[in-house]
Amino acid sequence: MWTNSKVAYHHHDHKRCVTAAMQRAKVLCDDRQVRLTPIREAVFKTIWASHRPLGAYDIVDQMTLATSPVKRILPPTVYRSIEFLLEQGLIHRLASLNAYIGCPFPGNDHNDVFLICRECGSAAECSADYLTTAVEQTAQRANFQVESQVIEIVGLCPECQA
Ligand SMILES: [Zn+2]
Ligand SMILES: [Zn+2]
Ligand SMILES: [Zn+2]
Repeated sequence: MWTNSKVAYHHHDHKRCVTAAMQRAKVLCDDRQVRLTPIREAVFKTIWASHRPLGAYDIVDQMTLATSPVKRILPPTVYRSIEFLLEQGLIHRLASLNAYIGCPFPGNDHNDVFLICRECGSAAECSADYLTTAVEQTAQRANFQVESQVIEIVGLCPECQA
């Protein structure tokens, strides 16, 4: 079982998270022989700007702010990049927020449990095999075929409880 809750909730040198995420993404794309184009990379970096999930509109907005006004960011291009990053498992979609967050553990098959803080908006990703097993058993009993399972838990992070 692993989690990135230590960095997701507490003050830390976030540049290191971004650098590490970028490196993992490059290695993974190289291995799979898919291209991390400049626009895909820019979308990925925008999502990794913090540990708070970002909606598609916010991603477009922030990218527009970061780019010169001459070069317009086209939303469909951004949406296609989001699709690519999702397919590669580099980001996850949080259905309850309709927002995206960078995956700190890409490249290995995992089911996700997200602990989402309603106060600061941070989301930490955890793996919990016993939860996965419980979900699978529940589905099996109902003869239900599971295609994806993302568990989203809402509450207060350690910082916001204080
Ligand atoms: Zn960080
Ligand atoms: Zn993940
Ligand atoms: Zn919080």
